Amino acid sequence: MNSASAHSMVPMLKKLHRYLRLLQPVVSFRFPHPVVLLHSDDWGLGGIPDQAVYARLDQKGLSTWWYPFDKHSLETAQDLQELYAVLNQHHDSRGCCPSVVFNFILANVNFEETAASGFRKLVLLPLYEGFPASWHRPGLLEAYRQGIEANLVYPALHGLTHFNLLAAETALAQKGEQRSQLIALYEEGVPQLYSYTPWLGYEFRAGDGFLADAWATFQQQSQVITRAIELFKHTFGHEPTSACAPGYRANDDTFRAFARSGVRVVQDGPSIRAAPYYDRYGLLHLPRNVVLEPALDNTPDLLERALQDAEYAMARKWPVVVTIHSMNFQSALHSGSSRTLTMLDDFLTTLEQRHADLCYMHDGDLLDLIESSSPRVRGANREPLMPISAYWSMQPEAQHAIGQHIRRSR
Ligand SMILES: [Zn+2]
Repeated sequence: MNSASAHSMVPMLKKLHRYLRLLQPVVSFRFPHPVVLLHSDDWGLGGIPDQAVYARLDQKGLSTWWYPFDKHSLETAQDLQELYAVLNQHHDSRGCCPSVVFNFILANVNFEETAASGFRKLVLLPLYEGFPASWHRPGLLEAYRQGIEANLVYPALHGLTHFNLLAAETALAQKGEQRSQLIALYEEGVPQLYSYTPWLGYEFRAGDGFLADAWATFQQQSQVITRAIELFKHTFGHEPTSACAPGYRANDDTFRAFARSGVRVVQDGPSIRAAPYYDRYGLLHLPRNVVLEPALDNTPDLLERALQDAEYAMARKWPVVVTIHSMNFQSALHSGSSRTLTMLDDFLTTLEQRHADLCYMHDGDLLDLIESSSPRVRGANREPLMPISAYWSMQPEAQHAIGQHIRRSR
């Protein structure tokens, strides 16, 4: 073998070594009692402020609205009070109310200051300072804190901005189509529309190509996570225990960066169904297994399917992990929040009636439960899940394709 071919072998061997490491068994967990967790993303994230702005964007033809999350707005204090009223009506076998994991975005675009810089500098407005001037959400920060104090809300980390910050900063620094698109949105107080600015992508991954490899580097991801955690601490007085990458776009670097930043639990999207497990960085992964998203799905059997999926999880002694985005509870742009509240109420009522030993938990509770178990009990729960381990190391698109292929994905 000459030195050139030996040289070319090195990346291949590294890749092989990495892949073999990914095939190591993981430790997963099962639970003797039915456990229910509610995961909800995008709290604190501004989308389209109100119906007037939506109408103007539509008139200008800025969006084709093909992407359902383009109709994300921002919750109001009243939206939260209505959710709390439903949660307060429900109790598990221990008398505890459900506690919804709110995954927060910790900063919005400061549109006024960004405009004042001639749209040359992207200025962020931390969540703890409130919302952009064109947004009107009186009492919203207090309403979050009220829910946390009442244990109806468990705050967790979603991200700093949701979109790829570097992509936005680069676009503003250059003359071109992307800069014009951002200015058109910023003048309306809107940070991103996927169907208009797909290149803004997600926090850790820019680009709109389905297979485009545009992951931020480990260092870039670490910087964003560190900044987001600082703002989280300032907002809630403690560091986050649980995190969910925006758009579920997370790769191996994301998990490594989360672990180094002190995150203990990672929420995974509802693709493949699996038991909670620890990855090699010591992060407890909680795959979501029930989709309850009335704002994204108006089919009449949505509740029935959610209940079936909950029973599927319980039959395998997995926790029921429901995904229900903040958009479902918003009233500023569309009128679906009452349907969501009715459906959530029905979902919880049915589970309480069917399972007398039901436990509502949030991610911190579940982590405590697992870590307080004796080593013997934890050892008894160990089981090799090699295909799952390899699966979770893949990019989201590959996960989805495989999930569909083996019919475990919805
Ligand atoms: Zn999100």
